[in-house]
Amino acid sequence: MASVEMENQLPSAIPLPIPRDQLKDIVEKAKDWALMHGAAMRPKNNYNPDTLSFAPFILTPSAFPRKEFERAVQIQTTLNELMHKVAHNRQFLTHCLKDTVQADEFTGNLFKIYETVHDEGITQRVSLGLLRSDYMVHCNAGNKIKQVEINTIASSFGGISILIRKFNRYVLQELGYRDKLVNLPENGALQGLCGGMLEAYKIYGKEEAVIMFVVEDVTYNICDQRFHEFEIRRMNPDVRVVRKTLTQIAHEGKLGSENELLVDRDEVAVIYFRAGYEPAHYHSKKEWDARLLMERSQAIKCPSIQYHLAGTKKVQQELAKGGTVEMFLTEASKIESVKEVFTGLYSLDFDEFGDQGVQMALDSPERFVLKPQREGGGNNVYGQNVREAVYKMKDSKERTAWILMERINPPVSKSYMIRPGGPEVPELVDLVSELGIFGLIIGDSSKIFANTQVGHMLRTKISTADEGGVAAGLGALDSPYLI
Ligand code: ADP
Ligand code: MG
Ligand code: MG
Repeated sequence: MASVEMENQLPSAIPLPIPRDQLKDIVEKAKDWALMHGAAMRPKNNYNPDTLSFAPFILTPSAFPRKEFERAVQIQTTLNELMHKVAHNRQFLTHCLKDTVQADEFTGNLFKIYETVHDEGITQRVSLGLLRSDYMVHCNAGNKIKQVEINTIASSFGGISILIRKFNRYVLQELGYRDKLVNLPENGALQGLCGGMLEAYKIYGKEEAVIMFVVEDVTYNICDQRFHEFEIRRMNPDVRVVRKTLTQIAHEGKLGSENELLVDRDEVAVIYFRAGYEPAHYHSKKEWDARLLMERSQAIKCPSIQYHLAGTKKVQQELAKGGTVEMFLTEASKIESVKEVFTGLYSLDFDEFGDQGVQMALDSPERFVLKPQREGGGNNVYGQNVREAVYKMKDSKERTAWILMERINPPVSKSYMIRPGGPEVPELVDLVSELGIFGLIIGDSSKIFANTQVGHMLRTKISTADEGGVAAGLGALDSPYLI
C-alpha cells in the first residue's frame, strides 16, 4: 500500500511547509508581483472593467516528470499535422459527426456552416491553427502522460503562462532557491502564437488590413488577450489589432467585391477567435450569420470552421479507434507516438461499440468522464452522475452527442493555492496538474507552410476537484518544475 502511495505522490520543488512568517511575507509579495506584471483577470464577482484581480496561482511550481514533458513537446508537431489533415478530410469529419450533429444543435450549426462554405467553394484555402494539446500524467499508466483533449479554438493562457514562469522564478529566488531555477523550462508561447498570426497576416498580404480578435461581450481573461494584442504590436507596429464581439460583427461586417471581410472601416486579414466556442456566445441568429459571413470571407481564420470541428471531442474519440491515425500519418514512429498518449475513448453511438460504451458507463461510472461537444470547462459529468446521465439518455439520440473517456488519475503534489479573497496564510494542499502544449500550424489542403511547437502552460487544481478551469475559479496558474 505504502509503495502505491509513494508512486502517486510527486516531490515538491522546495522543502515544505514554508514557516508561517516567511509564508505570509512571500504570499503578499507574490500577489503584488502578479498584479503589477499582469498575471491577472477581471473579477467575476463585482465585475468592473477598470479593476483587475491577480489570477489564482500556485505559490511554488509543481513537479512534472521531465521525460513526459519532453514527450509532450516532441509530439506536438505530429499532432498539429494530424489535426490539419483531419480538418481537411470532409469525408472523415462527416463520418465522425453524422449522428452528433443531429443530436447536438450547437455542433449541428457549426457543421451547417462548414457544409455551406464547402459547397459554395472555399474562398480562403489557408488556415491558421493555434492549438493547445492538454495532458495529465496517469498513475495507472506508469506515470506517463495521457492527452485530455486538444483545443483548436481560443486556446488560452499563452500570454499569461510565460509570465507565470517569471513569477515562479521570482518566488523561488525570494525564498532562497536560485539553484532550482534551471528546472523551469523556457517558454516561448506568446511570441510563438503571435508570430503565427503575423505569419498568416503576411500570407494575406495587404498592408492596410487588420487582425481582428473575436471576443466575448465581457472579457474576464483580459490580460491574456491583451498580451497577445500588445505582442503583435511589439513585433510589428504596422499591424493594427481590433476587438469585436460576434454581435458587432453582425452589425458592422460585410463582404467586399472579392469576398474580403470588411468590418466597420477595416479590411480583416486574420480573424483570431477568443469567443464563438460555446452556445451562449451566439445570442441569436445574427451571431450565427456573422460566423457564416466570416467563413465565407477571404480572411484567414484561426480557427477555420473545419479546424473548429476537428477539435470536437467526438473527433478525438473517433481518432482513438484502431487504425484511424494511420489514415492520416504515414511514419510508423509518429503514429506510435500519438497513439501512446491516447487513453480509452468510447462512443455512445447506436451501434455495437456504443452499446458497449453505455454498458461500461452503467457498470463502473467512476472509471470514466462523460463529455459533451463543448469547450471552456464545466461541462463534463463525473463519478456516480455518469451512470445517472447515461441511464437517462440511453434510449434517446441525445447519447450520440456525448463521448465517454477513461478517467485519468494524476499523481498528487503539495503546495499553496493562492486566490483573490483567500486567507493571509494559506494551507498546504494536495494538488494535481494539467500540462498544455501550444502548437502552431499554417497550411491549406495541399501544403503545410509552418508547423512548430511554441510553448506550454500548466494549470493546477485541488486534487479532489473534478475540473480545474482557472477562469471558472477552480484551478490556478502554475509552471512545470521538471524532475
Ligand atoms: P474543455 O474543452 O471544456 O476544457 P476538457 O476535456 O479539457 O474539456 O475537460 C475539462 C477538465 O475536466 C479538464 O481540464 C480536466 O481537469 C478534467 N478532465 C477531462 N477529461 C478528463 C479525464 N479523462 N480524466 C480526468 N479528468 C479529466
Ligand atoms: Mg477544450
Ligand atoms: Mg480543456
